[in-house]
Amino acid sequence: MPERTPYLAANWKMHKTVAEAGEFVDALLPRIAATQSDVVICPPTTALSAVVERRYGTAVKVAAQNMHEEDSGAFTGEVSASMLVELDVEAVVLGHSERRQLFGETDEALARKVPAALAAGLEPILCVGESEEARDAEQTDAVLERQLRADLAAVVGTKLAEVVIAYEPIWAIGTGRTATPEQAQEACAFIRGLVGAIDADAAAAVRILYGGSVKPANAAELFGLDDVDGGLVDGLGRLPQTHVQHGLLRERLRARRRRAPAAAGRRCAAPCPAAQAGC
Ligand code: PEP
Repeated sequence: MPERTPYLAANWKMHKTVAEAGEFVDALLPRIAATQSDVVICPPTTALSAVVERRYGTAVKVAAQNMHEEDSGAFTGEVSASMLVELDVEAVVLGHSERRQLFGETDEALARKVPAALAAGLEPILCVGESEEARDAEQTDAVLERQLRADLAAVVGTKLAEVVIAYEPIWAIGTGRTATPEQAQEACAFIRGLVGAIDADAAAAVRILYGGSVKPANAAELFGLDDVDGGLVDGLGRLPQTHVQHGLLRERLRARRRRAPAAAGRRCAAPCPAAQAGC
């Protein structure tokens, strides 16, 4: 089974001026100098270049928060994949629930955006997740399956492994209500199974993130789950303090599992002893 590099993404939403973005990244970079995780910052469009310029030669990747599926045209207010690539942006968040709910982003559009991003060389961070009503009605799996089948319909074979999938239950985003480890693991395992139904190799390689009110108290346990390869967080200052630490923790847990294969599959206990030891 391929080793999946942990992935930690901070979605800044419509926060931070260019100056604030620069200050944040300058403070972040020394803290993550040793990470082997993918650390991804998703600034607003206006701050993309400022973050790109600072992260050259570091482990940080930069992602846009949206893009249009067409390469150019009369689409006022939109940006295309090639425009992002021209800025040296490497990834793009697609299908965030705020875009689906507030800006009418549809699965039909996403079915075109995901392959357009891949074709341009951008790593799509595809967000999926159920509403509280859907969870209460035991429709979580049905929602995830509908979204993923639609959004990935035109992504074939090995390209599937290049998509990063973020499981973000809508009821957990920005609410302070986090999915339980059981809920997160169950949903992420279900997502991996769906990818596996299309391509078994891609299922083993694809990174699946959990997003929704990740906090210092629960990050280690969530990021230690078997099918959770990292997180998507709003990143308002929390990334350097907690999430990168826990990405490093996950790297150490994985290294320990490699040394002791019998321990594979064991979940990280919370509170984590390794974190208390200064991880
Ligand atoms: C998000 O907006 O993608 C998100 C996960 O936000 P929060 O961490 O605030 O729940």
